[in-house]
Amino acid sequence: MEKTLLDAIKERPLLGDGAMGTQLMIAGLEQGNSGELWNLIHPERVLAIQRRYAEAGSECLLTNTFGGSRIMLNRHSHADDVVAINAAGAGIAREAFGGRDGYVIGDIGPFGGLMEPYGEFTETQVLDAFREQAKALVDAGVDAIIIETQTSLEELRLGLLAAREAGASCVIGSMAYDVTLDGSTFRTMMGVDPERAAEFMQERGADVVALNCGTGMDMARARQAVLRYLEITELPIMAQPNAGQPKLVDMKVVYDETPAQMVTGVVPLLQAGASIIGGCCGSTPDHIRAFRAAMDQYRMAKAAS
Ligand SMILES: [Zn+2]
Repeated sequence: MEKTLLDAIKERPLLGDGAMGTQLMIAGLEQGNSGELWNLIHPERVLAIQRRYAEAGSECLLTNTFGGSRIMLNRHSHADDVVAINAAGAGIAREAFGGRDGYVIGDIGPFGGLMEPYGEFTETQVLDAFREQAKALVDAGVDAIIIETQTSLEELRLGLLAAREAGASCVIGSMAYDVTLDGSTFRTMMGVDPERAAEFMQERGADVVALNCGTGMDMARARQAVLRYLEITELPIMAQPNAGQPKLVDMKVVYDETPAQMVTGVVPLLQAGASIIGGCCGSTPDHIRAFRAAMDQYRMAKAAS
């Protein structure tokens, strides 16, 4: 790689990838099983998904390690495989680029529980789990680490700290917002609004301030979040909204925003100042291909004007 991820986004916005979880389900992962374990037992299936994203034009691929912390893997009796699963995840994402330039972003999701005094996990347990995962990802050569789908500043703080300590050259903090019932605004489940999140991430040494997933956070809402972040910080912004609202069809959660619908939000996001754009739950290689075309067109139109 000629440039670091942070240098690259100074020059032009980059395209991220789409969903992993929903793609794993399509590939046969059963609800409740560990998708991260597939890095070891079905690496070819994970590779096939990420290859489709790379071929659709993704320049940043998130490793298939969302639930790859010791605490999450312990639920599937695979706590001993933390290093192997994360290292394999980094390797598969790199391989998916097939030798082309691209950035591998080591993915760390929530640890999946509550910390004391609300839950059973101590801060030390959670920090140690994040440290172990972040180190495994950095040792495996990722270009950045994203602490994603975060709803509380306490957990986000531990994730950012672990990523920093592990020596990640770029650390991304990403919050999951829910639109409020009256539709007037959005905040995380734990009540954090984008202004506070941006301020907190800046204080804690994040390099990129992001949002992903959430409820009701479509492309237009993501644009609002980008603008609200930029009122607080000059750090680059990353946005990965879901492909619309989850709906229950035949007892399966489906996301039904089509590539044609979702892509209408790409240029507004770029104009708002987003530096990395991708998709979260329900987005597919077809969504990413549409994003690629819109981003390329926007870039050419800008260069010509
Ligand atoms: Zn999501």
